[in-house]
Amino acid sequence: MSRPRVRDDLRVLDGYHSPQLDVDVRLNTNESPEPPPSGFVAALAERLAGLEWHRYPDRAARELRERLAEHHGVTPAMVFAANGSNEVIQSVLLAFGGAGRRAAVFEPTYAMHGQIARVTGTEVVEGERTADFALDLQTVASLITETSPAVTFLCSPNNPTGVVDPAGTVAGVLDLVEPGGGLVVVDEAYGQFTPHSALGQVGDGAALAVTRTYSKTWAMAGARLGYLIGPEWLVSELEKVALPYHLSSPTQAAGIVALDFVTEMEARVARLVEQRGRLVSRLAGLDVDVWPSGANFVLFRPRPLAGDEVWRALVDRSILVRNCSSWPRLAGCLRVTVGTPAENDAFLDALEEILP
Ligand SMILES: *Cc1c(COP(=O)(O)O)cnc(C)c1O
Repeated sequence: MSRPRVRDDLRVLDGYHSPQLDVDVRLNTNESPEPPPSGFVAALAERLAGLEWHRYPDRAARELRERLAEHHGVTPAMVFAANGSNEVIQSVLLAFGGAGRRAAVFEPTYAMHGQIARVTGTEVVEGERTADFALDLQTVASLITETSPAVTFLCSPNNPTGVVDPAGTVAGVLDLVEPGGGLVVVDEAYGQFTPHSALGQVGDGAALAVTRTYSKTWAMAGARLGYLIGPEWLVSELEKVALPYHLSSPTQAAGIVALDFVTEMEARVARLVEQRGRLVSRLAGLDVDVWPSGANFVLFRPRPLAGDEVWRALVDRSILVRNCSSWPRLAGCLRVTVGTPAENDAFLDALEEILP
């Protein structure tokens, strides 16, 4: 047998890896450290008990979209939901990217934007953020003029830096891409951790979509549910590339029931924001560089030791953070997810012990 060969453009790609080690304190993937409230679990169990398991799910996910629309003050036709915001992004790229088209990203940023673009055959063009990880509109303008991307990704708060773009950025980028027929996608996976949002700028007259996820602020990473708010004309194109019945009935149910627990979600987010403040202020007292964050994680760089060395020493103490130290533009950096007060203390105490 001559082994079938994968597409030439995929041969150079690695899969996405986030090492999962068996440790006591997991602060590496920006999950919520708290599960959703027990009332949610009970209400969902009741709803699942009445589910018609032998029937296909509602293909249009009507109830979920109505509830999300109500939550955000838009129409259901402006909502597209899928299995995690990664699948939402994949749908956007299948519909608006693809062979012969480009997607623009500004590094360092969420690696999946580029990864999913490449898998869909979309060429990735990269712009650089400034030394303090800010987006410079001049740089955005040159990249867009030179490459005319079909899709331009922004990410605010940005992963892995935590940086929040100033309020005027999205409008500035829209002005740059719209004359050439480009689309701007703002990834707001951490949207509720910061007062800024681009949601208010979504409308029929703007080539703008905002993605959100249940994985972080909703404490539902296990459910695999994300969505996008965009103009109706955009959502109807995404429906063409979605597989039939792509969103299972239990997934839709989980998303609907969660929306009865908005108050609890906001309280949990507020607790994490408070913990983030505590994490940043204690880090500021240590021999590390630390960046202000608008998300549920903090990027820092140990000054006296290599990032790798500190990462290993933390693992030896059963604490796992994300090792970004070998990523381009992030030499020596580690990213720690905000955990419970006890987890944050365990991390900070260990770090204090490790640093000379
Ligand atoms: C975690 C994260 C996501 C979430 O992806 P899901 O597929 O919804 O779990 C999306 N974008 C960014 C920037 C993230 O950090």
